[in-house]
Amino acid sequence: MRPIFTPELVNGAFGDPALLIDFKFVRRALLFDLGDVGRLPTRKLLRVTDVFISHAHMDHFAGFDRLLRVCLGRTSGVRLYGPPQFLDRVEHKLAAYTWNLVQNYVAEFTVRAHELLPDGRIKAACFRSGTRFTREAVDETFAPDGVLRAESGLRVRALLIDHETPCLAFSLEESTHINVWKNGLAEIGLPTGPWLQDLKAAVLANAADETPISARWRDRDGSHERIVPLGQLKAKVVKLVAGQKICYVTDAACTEANIRRIVALAAHSDLLFIEAAFLHEDAERARDRFHLTARQAGELARTAGVAFAVPFHFSPRYMDRELELRAEFDAAFRGDGQRATDRAGRPAWAEAAASSAAGIRR
Ligand SMILES: [Zn+2]
Ligand SMILES: [Zn+2]
Repeated sequence: MRPIFTPELVNGAFGDPALLIDFKFVRRALLFDLGDVGRLPTRKLLRVTDVFISHAHMDHFAGFDRLLRVCLGRTSGVRLYGPPQFLDRVEHKLAAYTWNLVQNYVAEFTVRAHELLPDGRIKAACFRSGTRFTREAVDETFAPDGVLRAESGLRVRALLIDHETPCLAFSLEESTHINVWKNGLAEIGLPTGPWLQDLKAAVLANAADETPISARWRDRDGSHERIVPLGQLKAKVVKLVAGQKICYVTDAACTEANIRRIVALAAHSDLLFIEAAFLHEDAERARDRFHLTARQAGELARTAGVAFAVPFHFSPRYMDRELELRAEFDAAFRGDGQRATDRAGRPAWAEAAASSAAGIRR
């Protein structure tokens, strides 16, 4: 697979959550969470087009000011996505500053904020520098299957999980790549050229094998055209490669509902970033704070069948025990360590989920 994103945990495993997804072939980046982003160079922040915020606890949202400060003169604006009540929070953040001169900026800067509601509606609001960031309502939309943002080539899905407050987990899914084999083309005597776009479009549209594809090209001898059935090209020339799927899960209570939802969202990801705030010896503390332990996180990643998992959001209390946290996570993820099971043979997260359901839920 040829990845088109470079993911980077801005503050490592212990700092504020912020995951930068930098695009390799265009000047663009996404952010998952907006904790302290002071370490991100300005040139990278300037590339950010969309920010997906799990919830507005300070460690996940305090970087808003820095992002705004850096991007204010930019023309392209920024889109923000968050959980219920997010629009109010963005409005209050913007209302904290004096904007009497902002209309003098040559370029108008726009913040478009969206909040995902439990019924799948997306409420939105627009804040423009030209009107001193007063809130303007935008028509509601709907997120089918939790899709917050869909573009050609990628989509971002979100779902609500419980962290004693609604919190979003995210999945960034790249569309299937259509690769063209030059050797295959040579074998049937066809050159590359713009006609391959028609071929790719027909493959994406699932057109029938008999669909005629017109291959046109020019050379020294003039213009040429050959009509080839799609089926023949698919057999000889086209290779479909699944796109990359990256998930981001943080601040999740270990409840049965959360586990079910996270496993469904993260299923078969290529890469999962997942919080592992506490060692399992402190499972009670983790439960009281509505966080996962490293063992629970590792088992979740294993159950979801992800290819590669990165634990993060370690509690600073383990600053000198990082290796233990990682070892606990790895053992649970690989399933080759001491797998925590209860007497019924259920994994640790099931046990913790049951006790949190009994002990914490009112
Ligand atoms: Zn939190
Ligand atoms: Zn947090």
